[in-house]
Amino acid sequence: MSTHPAIGLPLSLEFFPPKTEEGATKLTAVRQQLYALQPEFCSVTYGAGGSTQDGTLQTVQAIMAEGQEAAPHFSCIGASRASIRDKLAQFQAAGIKRIVALRGDLPSGYGGFGEFRYASDLVAFIREETGSHFHIEVGAYPEMHPQARSPQDDLTAFATKVKAGANSAITQMFFNTDAYFRFVDEAYALGADIHIVPGIMPITNSSGIIRFADNCGAEIPRWMRLRLQSFGDDTASIKAFGLDVITDLCDQLRTAGVPALHFYTMNQSAAVLEICQRLGGR
Ligand code: FAD
Repeated sequence: MSTHPAIGLPLSLEFFPPKTEEGATKLTAVRQQLYALQPEFCSVTYGAGGSTQDGTLQTVQAIMAEGQEAAPHFSCIGASRASIRDKLAQFQAAGIKRIVALRGDLPSGYGGFGEFRYASDLVAFIREETGSHFHIEVGAYPEMHPQARSPQDDLTAFATKVKAGANSAITQMFFNTDAYFRFVDEAYALGADIHIVPGIMPITNSSGIIRFADNCGAEIPRWMRLRLQSFGDDTASIKAFGLDVITDLCDQLRTAGVPALHFYTMNQSAAVLEICQRLGGR
């Protein structure tokens, strides 16, 4: 793992595939700025059920052409074994060595599950088909995946992904460090003792983060939600507050010995750069 010299931890960066030419040009510039952080790898999201899947591979290839390691996110919901096999062959042919393997969420109105029900089925299939070629990352939910029957079931599901062959995990965003540390302890107790890397979402606007957190089952603590709401349209105050809170979150996680940090960049560089600069100075 390549540790960032000033921050003392390996970093990874997540992007989504741009939908327009303008977005692609902007993302190329954003990536160049963020490469200053010497990321261990960059990952690119994948749209379950069809949208943006070609864009994922194109963006991954663009990142690799820039000399960086890149990992496509890859979801199995709604897919056939044959289509997953083809995609894996495409990834191997492109020289990809790391995959973020997910179940995904189907767009509403889409048919059934397809031939894979859970991410653990995808992880097992990748191992069956390609042996140890890929480093497989999986998702982890310190505050429980919203569809899980119980926290215990969700932990068991996580351990199943690890037993199926996952090498490391990236968490859903969270703002409660206690939930993360408890999840890691309990996963380890079940034998799922891989690196579980915190997924960090910078806060740059309030309605977006509140909506996103509500959708993915991440809790925004009451004091944070109230502060964010109290700023109204004052974007400068929201950004300043977001930088303080997220830098503190990363600092606490670093002090407690997390293995790395994964930033959800949302294809923007300013907040991630500022957080990392502050972390480097602490
Ligand atoms: P799973 O691990 O399969 O879990 C899904 C649900 O099924 C959970 O509730 C779990 O408890 C339950 N479950 C699992 N196994 C069993 C079992 N054997 N028996 C009973 N219940 C079980 N989505 C995208 O579409 N594109 C992306 O690029 C993307 N990137 C992501 C990156 C990260 C780091 C994370 C954390 C999530 C990402 N997601 C993405 C969202 C993800 O696809 C959704 O959260 C999805 O609902 C679950 O995916 P999973 O891989 O965690 O599923």
